[in-house]
Amino acid sequence: MLAAGSGCTAKGSLQALREEVQALQGARVAVPPLPGFRDLRGVIHTHSYLSSDSDGRPEEFLTGAQQAKLDYLVITDHFDPRIFIEGLKGQYGDLTVIHGAEFPLGCTRKRGLARRCASILGFGFGPSIVPTFSPDAYSKPELIAQIKRHGGLVFLGHARGVSDPQYFGMVHGMEVFNIADTMREQYLSFPEFMVDLFVTQQEYHEELLLSVIERPNWLLARWDRLTRAGHRVVGIGGNDAHQNLSVLGVLVDPYGLVYRILNTHVLVDVQGSESPAPPSTQVLLAALRQGRCYLAFSLLCDASGFQFYAADPRSGRPVAMMGAVWEHVPCPQLVVRLPRVGAIEIIKNGVPEFRTVGRELEYTPSGPGVYRVEAFLKLQRRWRSWIISNPIYLLPGC
Ligand SMILES: [Zn+2]
Repeated sequence: MLAAGSGCTAKGSLQALREEVQALQGARVAVPPLPGFRDLRGVIHTHSYLSSDSDGRPEEFLTGAQQAKLDYLVITDHFDPRIFIEGLKGQYGDLTVIHGAEFPLGCTRKRGLARRCASILGFGFGPSIVPTFSPDAYSKPELIAQIKRHGGLVFLGHARGVSDPQYFGMVHGMEVFNIADTMREQYLSFPEFMVDLFVTQQEYHEELLLSVIERPNWLLARWDRLTRAGHRVVGIGGNDAHQNLSVLGVLVDPYGLVYRILNTHVLVDVQGSESPAPPSTQVLLAALRQGRCYLAFSLLCDASGFQFYAADPRSGRPVAMMGAVWEHVPCPQLVVRLPRVGAIEIIKNGVPEFRTVGRELEYTPSGPGVYRVEAFLKLQRRWRSWIISNPIYLLPGC
């Protein structure tokens, strides 16, 4: 449900919720970074005035990125040739902006609210794509191939709407959460949400948006089926921020808040570089391409520093990071570290295999398989989805 309370009772329950979230965040401890890697917090899938359904100006999304303490921002406007001329790209202070575009990929056959439309998110093109590029000149498979040919990454957006499974085999990855889709699914409770927003004079906007956070069961099951079948599919979060939802003058989805609900953290390789300067766009894209990333619902608690890697059982040295394949002897240990106590779940081939509550876990895998981790935090007596890692692929032979 989108709303956390209703009418006059809303303020009291929202204040209690705020205090509970503050307690969660207060118990956070810094996890020392893994040598050679830096954890970058970012947002993938945001729109600006270059999209027909958003008026967001550059200064607004840059301010939003600052409020959400982002290291990188991937802008995916609905395709318009102006993205090549007016779209932001490059370094803005400490923020790396990567530009791209969102292309329609058809819809499922269902009608009304059950109808879902997927998209292709392409970003990080090299300078070889020119402003005269026209997506209409290509079939969808050709378009995906063209973006890749020009050095870009391709992900499936709104992945529940993908009607032809062949696309999953053509791309680098898929959204395993999309904020706009989730809000749409919670549409029926929207009037209650708005009443609470007005009654509390937007004082608890952040707490009201916490209800957007829920485990994406369907998408995770779809993703697990793909990886279990041998596809290496990178999971990312889709913020799909438009800053376009305004009711009676109240902006429901400001960039700064939507950028804080969900982040895709990328572990970039900084081996040999002690420089505190932001890593290059190419280094960032390379880490995303390899799946060295995780999703985190930062509105619950900052997950920076989360670790999931495979380690040599004798030395404890990391031998495989998220997204990597391991096929050597001996089978490694799986190591998980959280920046605060939570529930840690090890998922093998889509099936939960082990669960514990704590801050660290060293786990001996039960043989080859696709392993990923989810972490949960307890809020209002319920475990809430907090972190979703990318998998490590332990192949037969390990
Ligand atoms: Zn979009």
